[in-house]
Amino acid sequence: MNAQRVIDDLRELAARTSTADGAQRLAWGPVWREARDWFRGRIAELGLGVDTDSAGNNWVALPGASTKTVIVGSHLDSVPNGGWLDGCLGVMAALEALRMHAAAKPAVTLKLVDWADEEGARFGRSLLGSSAAAGSLDIDMVRELTDRQGTRLVDALAENGVSLERMRDAHRELKAIDARAYLELHIEQGPVLESMNKSTGVVLGTFGVERNTLRFTGQAAHSGSTPIPMRRDAFLAAAQTALECREIAKRHSRPGAGVVCTVGVVDVEPKIVTAVPGVCEISLDQRALDPDALAAMLRDAHAAADRAARDNNVAVEWRPLWRIDPRPFDTALVGLCEEAVREETGDAPRLPSGPLHDAAEMVPHMPVVMMFACSSNGLSHCKEEDTPIPHLEKTIRAYLRLVQKTVAHVANA
Ligand SMILES: [Zn+2]
Repeated sequence: MNAQRVIDDLRELAARTSTADGAQRLAWGPVWREARDWFRGRIAELGLGVDTDSAGNNWVALPGASTKTVIVGSHLDSVPNGGWLDGCLGVMAALEALRMHAAAKPAVTLKLVDWADEEGARFGRSLLGSSAAAGSLDIDMVRELTDRQGTRLVDALAENGVSLERMRDAHRELKAIDARAYLELHIEQGPVLESMNKSTGVVLGTFGVERNTLRFTGQAAHSGSTPIPMRRDAFLAAAQTALECREIAKRHSRPGAGVVCTVGVVDVEPKIVTAVPGVCEISLDQRALDPDALAAMLRDAHAAADRAARDNNVAVEWRPLWRIDPRPFDTALVGLCEEAVREETGDAPRLPSGPLHDAAEMVPHMPVVMMFACSSNGLSHCKEEDTPIPHLEKTIRAYLRLVQKTVAHVANA
């Protein structure tokens, strides 16, 4: 188990594909291709080859005694000015897992995957490659996407040998694998593990999300002449709802099962310092791992918005933006992950993942678990992203242990 080799690989990749502002491996672009070419060289050193599926995901197979397969991996693409660990930590640790098992023929087959365009940073659609493989990608929803330069997704894909129309063939290709487990190591990207002073976490699943726009409609009026009790202030109704949603989240949080909600967008009309706001739109993003908690939070938010609307004599209307069900990970693999983390670090804190990951796309198709490395200052998607080296080493070793345990578990199943 050579954690140092993983860190050396990560540093080399960063040196090749970053500027002073951070990682620049934007999906489908030249720097990302360079990263993948470099990675292909690393794989070649093992005497193995890289296959690209119909969605542009890269796969490396290490055949074992059985066709039963354990999949390890993450993504090499980054946001612009990204960190040195997001995504590539999981790919480099997976590479080390292959190295570890390549010496003697493993009991089961190992496959490494580097998902294409996890970040969605260029075209706005996250988990593009993994959702195509999962069969959940709606081609018509992404057909017209363009980046900031006006390049069409279809053309960017074609530049990389991927046909949008045939992307979903990747699903058939995934189904052809006798997959028994998917294991992904990732940086936490939040402050929870650091606040507990822990290097490594066992991830229980990815949050479900309910995302809506709430439009409050009152009456714009002169701010000097309209007495407070006679106002129909749409902003105040929205503000009251936002404050109440914070209380709702606190109410539904359980130890180890925190829930979150965020009002990230506020827009008022007519936006004049001397006018009572007649219209106010807010976004409301609610997340939880427990489906019942998520449903209850949404119900409570509806009740809170209705109450705030009544109190302020305005109307409220909901518009759905997006939703996804919680994706809880596999109980048996969570157990193995706990063992591995405890053996390496002496403790095994469990936490849900607020961000989505490629792992979430695999949940309907095979047993899945993720492991997190703690984030320094909770930062990610920026050049300051980091994990203290001793913590990083421990986490990489814990992940390699998890792969060993899972290989044994799948072989004996
Ligand atoms: Zn990532």
